[in-house]
Amino acid sequence: MKTTHNDIHCKQSNKGRICTFLDEQGVPINENWRSFILFLNILKYHQYLTQKQKKSINTLFADILAKGDYTDKQFQDRIEQFRNIYSATYINKLQETIKESEKLLQEFKKLSKKRTGNVEVLQNTTVNCIGGSENPRDIIKEVRSAFTNVIEEMNRDTEKLNQLSKTDQLTRLGNRRAFDEYLNASIQKYNSSFPVSLMMLDIDFFKKFNDNYGHRIGDQALSTVGKLCKYCVDKFSENLDEPLLPTRYGGEEFAVIMPGLTIEQAVKVAEFIRKTLEDYDFIIRNNKGEIAHKNITITASIGVAEVLPHWLENQANQLVEAADKALYGAKEQGRNQVRSYSVKLDKGQETEIII
Ligand code: GH3
Ligand code: MG
Ligand code: MG
Repeated sequence: MKTTHNDIHCKQSNKGRICTFLDEQGVPINENWRSFILFLNILKYHQYLTQKQKKSINTLFADILAKGDYTDKQFQDRIEQFRNIYSATYINKLQETIKESEKLLQEFKKLSKKRTGNVEVLQNTTVNCIGGSENPRDIIKEVRSAFTNVIEEMNRDTEKLNQLSKTDQLTRLGNRRAFDEYLNASIQKYNSSFPVSLMMLDIDFFKKFNDNYGHRIGDQALSTVGKLCKYCVDKFSENLDEPLLPTRYGGEEFAVIMPGLTIEQAVKVAEFIRKTLEDYDFIIRNNKGEIAHKNITITASIGVAEVLPHWLENQANQLVEAADKALYGAKEQGRNQVRSYSVKLDKGQETEIII
């Protein structure tokens, strides 16, 4: 007899207990439906789904069994419902990007309107001074001064828009664009006497924090973590030629680019940030401004790496990957700690080590 996917699931799944369960629930021997239901069943083990998503998937799972409608039309509807739950986080990200773009556009419109006003003033100044003066020198002087004012204002506006496009709206730190730009610029300067280090930070169990206190409070916590990172980085930047740049790398991840710092120096900055976060008492206030929760601790795991001399190309990508591996090591070894990336070269053989 031909073996179907369902047979395989049944043989592998605890001596067919799941299949017996599906039989008891009246799920027909239909490959699409059974695969889909089993797939929903294992999604609860997937870490990349949010608590909310897992709950919605559980509800969908229970709904399918309770309704007992196993038509093709119903199958398409259920797939669609699943797709909506699954893509929710990506849609959030997209909405964030759209919000950011809308803000930029509004700012651009505001500046453009101001510019029209400037040009009108310029026109009036030019017409008035040509009409009102006999002396060509005076005319040139006045027109030049009016033009200079407008050019200076335009330069200031361009800089303002440029800054806005590189700023994360929630934390006011540099965003991913600022991160890419500064990392590449720092690596351009890299040489044997100018090291470049990178620190990647990921908040521990932040999903749980959101589940406990809500997404809005989670946003406030992210904003505070951003401020604390900046406070720490500023303390270290005081005596440096090249500033350290704290950025929001994405979600609950932050990164600090450290041009001119060796990995040993970078670890000191990272440890200072880790300790500052650990010691900080996060307070949650209700809508009336009263303290609703206090003595809340947020910790983070941090990975640090520096550009290695034998990386001959793609140093930016290699550095990010190395810091990420160190961060993963910090998570694996219990979180709330700093780990650094290194390699051991033994008889030409390269072995990565996380210290
Ligand atoms: P781990 O210690 O392994 O890092 O656990 P974690 O829960 O922090 O990690 P996970 O990657 O599972 O979850 C990240 C969470 O961060 C889930 C997501 O809702 C939350 N998050 C990401 N971006 C934002 C944001 O902009 N605002 C809020 N409030 N939460 C966010
Ligand atoms: Mg993360
Ligand atoms: Mg995390």
